[in-house]
Amino acid sequence: MKKIKASINRETGKLGFETVTIGEPGVGQVLIKMVACGVCHTDSVVINDIMPMPKPTIVGHEGVGIVEEVGPGVIDLAVGDHVVMSYPSCGVCDACRAGHPYACEHSSQLFWGGAYFDGSHKIKDEQGADVSVMFGQGSFAEYAIANSRYCVKVDPAADLKMLCSLGCGIQTGASSVMNVMRPEAGSSLVVFGTGAVGLAAIMAAKICGCSTIIAVDIVPSRLELAKEVGATHTINSKEVEDVAAKVREFCGGKGANFAFESTGHASLIVTGLDSLKSEGTEVFVSATGTQTVTFMPDLQLMSFCRTLTGVVEGGSDPQRFIPTLVQFYQEGRLPLEKITKFYKFDELEQAFEDSHSGKVIKPVVVFD
Ligand code: NAD
Repeated sequence: MKKIKASINRETGKLGFETVTIGEPGVGQVLIKMVACGVCHTDSVVINDIMPMPKPTIVGHEGVGIVEEVGPGVIDLAVGDHVVMSYPSCGVCDACRAGHPYACEHSSQLFWGGAYFDGSHKIKDEQGADVSVMFGQGSFAEYAIANSRYCVKVDPAADLKMLCSLGCGIQTGASSVMNVMRPEAGSSLVVFGTGAVGLAAIMAAKICGCSTIIAVDIVPSRLELAKEVGATHTINSKEVEDVAAKVREFCGGKGANFAFESTGHASLIVTGLDSLKSEGTEVFVSATGTQTVTFMPDLQLMSFCRTLTGVVEGGSDPQRFIPTLVQFYQEGRLPLEKITKFYKFDELEQAFEDSHSGKVIKPVVVFD
């Protein structure tokens, strides 16, 4: 048992620091001394009760750290290992057994339920009440307990604090391209939204050898950054009336092979469809909640033999894909340093503010 400092969400929209008690790792679990944690749009979705979790809650789901204790039955991690924590999955449902943890049948419970798969909690507040942890980790705290299944051992030579976003945002964008679209060299891709997720899709498209990579956003500085990391064309959708027509123009009049939507606006999923050439594929990942859209399935999808698909975490198996991303980062092909800004744990609120305002693409909180 340890007393640790944690960021706690008790009321809608608010975070505060508290001292809490963390227990011992149970069967299959590890205790991790946190090194850093990225701020992601999805943390705010929980804090603001758009995706409510049982309170009090520790958010944070892009944690990295060093294994300090291993629980019974852990054979894949040892004390001292450097790990990137990713999204949880149960390991025993049909999807997990098929090697598709992103489609885990228990993901809703594991992402948002606040407890581990067996219903247990490991953290108590000062009154002795259970504290929920987001994504089975709750990484805005000095220590976290997580199942080794979703803690990915990485090369200790890599700068761990740079790797936070590989656990969620970067994995989602990059894997959507590399593992779902699988573009041939020379393909064309349009990316709607150039936050961390969209920029990762652009970086991945460049690695895959896509020839035409079009970035769409409403923030000029983000479009500039998109060019720096691989976009060949940009569109400020505030300035262009028919974005799909512009995309088709950039792709020789026919449209793009692939579209990727990450803006959070469901209407842009339809713009994405209209941007595709015949047999094109659109992947969307953004959290659009209860938004609805209308489109003509015959004229906009079937008649062109197009595919529309939504994926969780880019359809990635973290244990296989994250080490590949680490290698790309080490080779300079995944320029995470261009999107990352570091904050101290005490500056967590500022980190969230800078994420909301769009000033910083990937704020990362570093623990001392
Ligand atoms: P972000 O807010 O940093 O990026 C969104 C981008 O969209 C911003 O650059 C913004 O300027 C742009 N945008 C907003 N409105 C636009 C418009 N009308 N036209 C063009 N661009 C517009 O967010 P992010 O961290 O990159 O995440 C993107 C989305 O992906 C979020 O909705 C997040 O919740 C979701 N997400 C999903 C998964 C998953 O597993 N499916 C995983 C991680 C993140």
